[in-house]
Amino acid sequence: MACPQRSNQAATGDLANAAPGTTLAPNDESLVPAMPPDPAALPPSPQRFADVNAVAAGYLRDLAYAQTSQPKMFGYKRAAAAVLALEEPLTSLITPGRQLARIPGVGPASQRVIFEVLDSGTSPTADAAVNLSGRAADIARRRALRSHFLSRAEVMRILRDPRFDGPTRSDYRGDLQMHSEWSDGRPSLDEIADACLARGYAHAAVTDHSHGLKIAGGMSPAEAAAQREAIARLNERYEGRFRMISGVEANIGADGQLDLSAEEAAGFELVLAAPHSKLRKAEDQTARMLAAVATPRVRVLAHPRGRITGSRAGVVADWDAVFSAAVQHGVAVEIDGDPSRQDLDFSMAARALAAGCLFALDSDAHTTSQLVYAETALAHARLAGIPPDRIVNCWTTPRLLEWLRAASAR
Ligand SMILES: [Zn+2]
Repeated sequence: MACPQRSNQAATGDLANAAPGTTLAPNDESLVPAMPPDPAALPPSPQRFADVNAVAAGYLRDLAYAQTSQPKMFGYKRAAAAVLALEEPLTSLITPGRQLARIPGVGPASQRVIFEVLDSGTSPTADAAVNLSGRAADIARRRALRSHFLSRAEVMRILRDPRFDGPTRSDYRGDLQMHSEWSDGRPSLDEIADACLARGYAHAAVTDHSHGLKIAGGMSPAEAAAQREAIARLNERYEGRFRMISGVEANIGADGQLDLSAEEAAGFELVLAAPHSKLRKAEDQTARMLAAVATPRVRVLAHPRGRITGSRAGVVADWDAVFSAAVQHGVAVEIDGDPSRQDLDFSMAARALAAGCLFALDSDAHTTSQLVYAETALAHARLAGIPPDRIVNCWTTPRLLEWLRAASAR
């Protein structure tokens, strides 16, 4: 079998930029390595290879949206999710007898699509179903919204490949976006501290939603004050072992204003600002994002675009202008590692790096098991070649706290 490999340049192409006549798989990958890349054959510089699990999952999602029966639609969606969450590429799950190892959630119909992708890089079965469905235009739109998303297996491969210059897991000292039972997350503060310690973190910020985001159970000022006291008590108990940072995820309104006052913001050690509305609009929202970045005490622009895979593109803005403003105001831009967000992705992060930005790499976890999502952010940072010193999560606790305190001075 051929083993096509692609350069960084080719691998970062968008559907929209593809040459006419190019055959593209249902995410941004046009070619699939039929076998795992042979390490001995790799070129000296790290490359991003076509992500076979993302390609197969993309076809399964296409097939889901081509169904008229709801159970079948959910079945293919479940199969796609299972493939995206695999730790290994599908190519390594083929037995010598050309059987696919059993993957919970993946039935015979989905297996057939997977084999087609492994053999040819495409799925004639899915393509035929899409053409017959009468929904080809909507499915093509969704495909375009899966650009630059990594499967879990590709994240793992990138973390293992020593030739990337970016941060390693051991460089990463703590996560700066997560949610607890105080807003829309599940875990208690103690559960978070223990889970972070188990991951070897020195510190982590709990960043529940502010009161403007009612749908996410945002904290009232009184609840925020009570949470800060609970965090202070926790820090006494974990003294010398772990430092919990009291943070908040403020919502950026349509006008760029935050849903908490300057006085309320001053009560937190870390203020993230993030957009949660107007994420499907074609109009330019540069002014909104510039206003948010210029807001005193904001330290991180979180999931800057607000994109969701296969669903929405997020905020449209002159991002290079936003990145320059972030540099000017000392605001870090986030790589949100939630697999459905991956926001910023590696291509945008490379632009932010060139602009001189600092970065925050976060899980956006709502359960302790989701803390692993920080690894998705690490993979994007490695693809973008971000030096650990530009990533605030990789700083020592004293250096991080000093940087956070400087925000309250501006
Ligand atoms: Zn958010």
